[in-house]
Amino acid sequence: ALAASRAYATHPHIASSKEDFEDSLVILKLFQDEFDIPAPNYLPVFPAGTEASRSATLGINKLKKPSAWVDVYYPIMNSPLDRALQILDDDGAVAWNADLVEDGDPADPEAAKYKDYIPTFPWPERRRGGVNFTGKIVLTRYGGIFRGLKIKGAQELGAVGVLIYSDPRDDGVVTVDNGYVAYPRGPARNPTSVQRGSVQFISLYPGDPATPGYPAYANATRTAAENIPKIPSLPISWANAQRLLAEIGPESKSRKLTGKSSKSIIKLVNHVDNKVMPIWNTVAAIPGHIKNETVLIGCHRDAWVMGAGDPISGTASLHEVIRGFGVLLKNGWKPLRNVVIISWDAEEYGLVGSTEWAEDFAEWIGENIVTYINLDVSVTGSQWHAAASPSLAHLIRKSALEIPHPTIHGKTLWDAQFDNGPYHEGEMDAEFAAQYTASHPEDTGIPPLGSGSDFTAFLQRIGIASMDQSFFGTPHDAVYHYHSIYDSQRWQEIFADPGFYRHTAVAKHLGLVALRLIDSIILPLNTTQYSLELDSYLSSIEGLAQSLDSSVDFSGLQTSVHKVQEASLELDVEKHEAEEKFKELLEKLPKPPTDPRAFIRWIKWLLRLRNNPIHQFIKAAKRVQKANSKLVAFEKGFISEEGIKDREWYRHLGVAPGKWLGYGATTFPSIYDALVWDKNATAAQHQVDRVSKALDKLSDVLKP
Ligand code: GLU
Ligand code: CA
Ligand code: ZN
Ligand code: ZN
Repeated sequence: ALAASRAYATHPHIASSKEDFEDSLVILKLFQDEFDIPAPNYLPVFPAGTEASRSATLGINKLKKPSAWVDVYYPIMNSPLDRALQILDDDGAVAWNADLVEDGDPADPEAAKYKDYIPTFPWPERRRGGVNFTGKIVLTRYGGIFRGLKIKGAQELGAVGVLIYSDPRDDGVVTVDNGYVAYPRGPARNPTSVQRGSVQFISLYPGDPATPGYPAYANATRTAAENIPKIPSLPISWANAQRLLAEIGPESKSRKLTGKSSKSIIKLVNHVDNKVMPIWNTVAAIPGHIKNETVLIGCHRDAWVMGAGDPISGTASLHEVIRGFGVLLKNGWKPLRNVVIISWDAEEYGLVGSTEWAEDFAEWIGENIVTYINLDVSVTGSQWHAAASPSLAHLIRKSALEIPHPTIHGKTLWDAQFDNGPYHEGEMDAEFAAQYTASHPEDTGIPPLGSGSDFTAFLQRIGIASMDQSFFGTPHDAVYHYHSIYDSQRWQEIFADPGFYRHTAVAKHLGLVALRLIDSIILPLNTTQYSLELDSYLSSIEGLAQSLDSSVDFSGLQTSVHKVQEASLELDVEKHEAEEKFKELLEKLPKPPTDPRAFIRWIKWLLRLRNNPIHQFIKAAKRVQKANSKLVAFEKGFISEEGIKDREWYRHLGVAPGKWLGYGATTFPSIYDALVWDKNATAAQHQVDRVSKALDKLSDVLKP
């Protein structure tokens, strides 16, 4: 993992760049080497929508041997042209001109060399001339909700521009004020670091802004982008924010929301170049015995700059899993189910590679993929977390309890959920501590997925059970310079994961979870856990309705939830019996002779038998498959073609990224949106009935 990380994280590889393309081929080569795929005498890089690209994915069900290729999509993305942030004096002359470049790191050759390689710019941005803004430019701090939704909010309130800064008060105890030295000499925030990042309206729809719901082929019909801001914005450093805060006035030093504005005029310029740009998903497929069941594993490859944490830690962990599968294959392993592994591109621009692929092959994915295992950041700190569909919670927990803790002897990976970083001296801001504890209840549950990474299209649009995991920073860890030049290999080796034990722990967990999904006779999806979790979805939305004095009646939904719970319990019995029968008959299966002529005679004899054990075995196998298909159908039971009102791309009635959260999940989102955002009890009642109907249908599907 260390070698892989050093190879990828010591050069920039922003989506659509030359380096990104080269890395897509490095991964292709890795697949070819590890899975013994003969390199064809042409480069298997297929433009999406072409016969070659379509038959590669649609042909996975017919593969005899592992195969690997690169799919190219053509979304609209941008690159920075020029930017400026200035304070103008009364005569319009420039009083202060912000240096929008991060300082770099003299001790780190890459962080020095590439410090302005990818300017600090947000994507996407509609082109605006060198405008002098006369209205308000909002200065807001990072944190809480997804950055694009901050811009959306500001835009809807009439702002003409937004500046988002990284505030050290969100850095826990590890701050310069507490006596810690700033990076690169210490673990605190480098004051010039800037968090780049997508500002798309993630809760509306992800992916290419110009092709919502369908794939961005080279010749796609492109529509007006609706999920990107109309006003310009820039992410800025704490160093620059301080200068602007001083302009607003002394009261704002407390950095509380003041709503005050500066007397001086602020000039914000952000020129970007919007165009169709190619992106490359590298895909590998390993055929299994069962042709129509596939486990999908993915991690993005593109980074804002070098991305040692995001996403190279994930990519490096995935490297180990790929090598592990390679060893198994070389030892004669044939997976029970197909395995597909994809290195996604352009995640940073808005989950583009995964979304376009999912939109391209939605039908095939719906019919074939049993689970999606996502990895993005695997390590940026000491505390391990997983988030997933509730049906995967037990598998994740069981596996984490079997993986040794990365650094502490005698403990497990599961225990690493409560690790709390190395820096404990200094004073911790009490408000911050309280907030942090409230948002991280130390329970053993696995929370649901919202958005912000490549599981989104699979879970929220197609209804594939999905999971994600990572070691995150805590208030007691070295500050993670997210999406900045300082997310570097040097930082990773010194501060986040010396020895790379955490990278390896994630690889072990992912590998174990994947193998259990790939090779278990009955899929380890616990639908009963999911159905029981619906009780808490229900009580939280009921509580919300009550607090809003709404008259919505939830009794119908309650009945439907109970029905699903009962149906799932019946399915549990059925899946158990199906598995037992299968195992019993498998054991009784006569061993075929190895001599080919004797084999033919043996088959003929078998076929003439009245109680043919092969027939019975096939019947048992079909029963197992039926049970498995019901387990997979559980998540799809929440999918409605109609989608969630005002953001119809999202189709999962059980969970969606919060409309004003982005990263965070909202359960029963259609009901929540109607209650909270539309404040419409009639609409909410309609949504309750809709969810209830979907669940009733699901109960019928689950019934053996
Ligand atoms: N993970 C990236 C981020 O948080 C992209 C998320 C998105 O645009 O949906 O910036
Ligand atoms: Ca699209
Ligand atoms: Zn990422
Ligand atoms: Zn990222």
